[in-house]
Amino acid sequence: MKKTLFTSFFLALLSITISVAGPVDGKWIGKIGDDYAITLNLKTEGDKLTGTIGNASGELPINEGKVNGNDFSFNSVYQNNTIPIKGRIEGDKMYITVSFNGNDLNGSLTREGGAETASAPRMKPEETEVWNPVPKVITPGKTPLDAPSDAIVLFDGKNLDQWVSVKDKSPANWTVEKGVLTVNKAAGNIETRQSFKNYQLHIEWKIPEKISLTGQSRGNSGIFLASTGPGDAGYELQVLDSYENKTYSNGQAGSIYKQAIPLANASKKPGEWQVYDVIWTAPTFTADGSVQTPAHVTVIHNGVVVQNNYELKGETTYIGQPKYKKYESAPIKLQAHGDKSEPLSFRNIWVREL
Ligand code: MG
Repeated sequence: MKKTLFTSFFLALLSITISVAGPVDGKWIGKIGDDYAITLNLKTEGDKLTGTIGNASGELPINEGKVNGNDFSFNSVYQNNTIPIKGRIEGDKMYITVSFNGNDLNGSLTREGGAETASAPRMKPEETEVWNPVPKVITPGKTPLDAPSDAIVLFDGKNLDQWVSVKDKSPANWTVEKGVLTVNKAAGNIETRQSFKNYQLHIEWKIPEKISLTGQSRGNSGIFLASTGPGDAGYELQVLDSYENKTYSNGQAGSIYKQAIPLANASKKPGEWQVYDVIWTAPTFTADGSVQTPAHVTVIHNGVVVQNNYELKGETTYIGQPKYKKYESAPIKLQAHGDKSEPLSFRNIWVREL
């Protein structure tokens, strides 16, 4: 009985001894020289060492592996050459010497899951969760074309209550018919009563099906993302028939007029409704009027990004270089361009302040 107990105890102890990993055992990741990445997967059995050596192109078994305490050696056959490798373990670090073509190359590796990894501060998932503030809840429109619950509707097809004439701030005198707003070229530019700073704008526009003339004279209008004065003062996102209508690239539909060529021409045919979705970040100015942060704009034309957070150089101008001029907030303006082509139309205009 006593003997049996002793035998079982001894066997149990032996199995524990066998299952305890030696200092060389495990997966090791590191480099030989400055940039030759290798991985070793090693296992000791008594003083025998087996496993694999690997690089980006695959793994090879190691040969003639021997372990003596923290020291070890093995060979690897690479392109028919036998390459002797020896090394030493210090904690979770492995230092190796590879004899290759008569040269000794040194390398160092780290044990996967070793103390270096373990000593990195362990964070809980909760530590990177931010619960406040909570984004306000808004109800989206029925489709992405429709105004969400927090939008300011600038034109819903009924009237021009939100708009005035740029010239004298009298009620806007463009044509509203069948839910559609059409440019009255004789009446001049119109702008919103309200001023805005940073916003998201949705606006739809249509070039008449039977449009005439060419280039800049064919369905020209514009959306001034900030109207900073009379006439065409401000920052114009060009509206034009750019469906098979050649003009200068920085003046076609989707351009920031004479500043930024659109990233693509996503124009639809005359007679089809088109969509601009715009994200406008207004410029900011210091007290002395110099620019603190320039304006940025993102424009999506018919679902296609045509301006990607473009940094403006200043107000858009017909002649000369763009320049900034201090303003705090400004109306959004629609252009009555002086060309002789048939007037174009707008519908479904809404804005969300950001
Ligand atoms: Mg224009």
